[in-house]
Amino acid sequence: MLSKKHLFLKYLGQTSDSPCSLEIDYAEGIYLYGIRGEKYIDIISGVSVSNLGHGNELVKDAVKKQIDKHTHLMVYGEYVQSPQVDLAVYLSGILPDSLNSVYFVNSGSEAVDTALKLAKRHTRKHKIISFKNAYHGSTHGAISVTGQESFKNSFRPLLPEIYHLDFNSIEQLNEIDNSTACVIVEPVQAEAGIIVAHEQFMHKLRQKCTDTGTLLIFDEIQTGFGRTGKMFGFQHFGIVPDIICFAKALGAGMPIGAIVSSKEIMDSFKSNPILGHITTFGGHPVSCAAALAGLKYLNNSELITDSVRKANIFIDCLRSDKIVEIRHKGLFMAVDLGDFNLVMSFIKAAIKNGLVTDWFLFYDKAFRIAPPLTITDEEIIIACKIINKTLKEI
Ligand code: PLP
Repeated sequence: MLSKKHLFLKYLGQTSDSPCSLEIDYAEGIYLYGIRGEKYIDIISGVSVSNLGHGNELVKDAVKKQIDKHTHLMVYGEYVQSPQVDLAVYLSGILPDSLNSVYFVNSGSEAVDTALKLAKRHTRKHKIISFKNAYHGSTHGAISVTGQESFKNSFRPLLPEIYHLDFNSIEQLNEIDNSTACVIVEPVQAEAGIIVAHEQFMHKLRQKCTDTGTLLIFDEIQTGFGRTGKMFGFQHFGIVPDIICFAKALGAGMPIGAIVSSKEIMDSFKSNPILGHITTFGGHPVSCAAALAGLKYLNNSELITDSVRKANIFIDCLRSDKIVEIRHKGLFMAVDLGDFNLVMSFIKAAIKNGLVTDWFLFYDKAFRIAPPLTITDEEIIIACKIINKTLKEI
């Protein structure tokens, strides 16, 4: 009989020739448990998803309760479904006043596509600006604004009139003009290897968008929900975007995405044409119930403020002359080894030593540290010991 790994390779569409292929039986807290009882510390949180760790009891209860009530009822936007309404009210309540209308989707890429369509529909313009090395997702719209040419070449033609500027270049912001519908930006470029936006750049970007009637879209799909040491990444800069995209950690382990804007902007979707942007499963009630339980838990905890202190424990405890640089914003960290082969060897050896990590899509010389925010000080010290030992071995 073929093993699960063979069946996985044979029957599931693959995304590369070398999937990590870890076979996980269950997960709890910051740990993943393999089918033979192996125990791994998860320092990537399924790529910025499991901010609350695995198996949060309140999230599990909310999921179970909602399944007993109902699962899918009707396409998004037609019936009044309490899990959607309650989540939208709560999410709006922790965002600035102008971000008060929520549109639920299923994933990050779909959130980005939705935001781009909304910006075009609202402004009636089509030029779109994005930044080099940004990753915004894999659907046609999201990949069009993704800022890595080699990643896109096989899929052309993509969306027209998209221009990519150098991230953090204030000079190049002059490309934003009255014909620009929107600018999409990450507050911390994630897949570029944790590149934090400069404060002055963000201020100038906000100003330029306001001056030209351009909508500013923040992609907070990785940075949202405490990952960078604040609830949302934009809060580091004292500016407010016009549209914000969420997914990943929003669902506390369940699939959901969302865009949030002002009611005035969002209402553009209501007409010309009506039903011009719809989704069957967007805001699935079970995902909404999980998201609300997770969000309340996070918001009522000290996890976010504590994450800044915890990041410093990582920095203090990581010791190796192989480390070239550590870039970070909260518990969103890139440990730069300056060499792809070293990173590959590190990741493989770390798994053997009981710790899972990964490199970045557009920066393969660093490995990521983005653990559940629930990681304890003691667990950080254990994780660092494994990292230091592994760096010695390779
Ligand atoms: N935007 C950012 C910043 C991301 O990191 C990702 C996924 O990694 C996406 C968008 C796309 O999200 P999804 O994979 O849910 O489509």
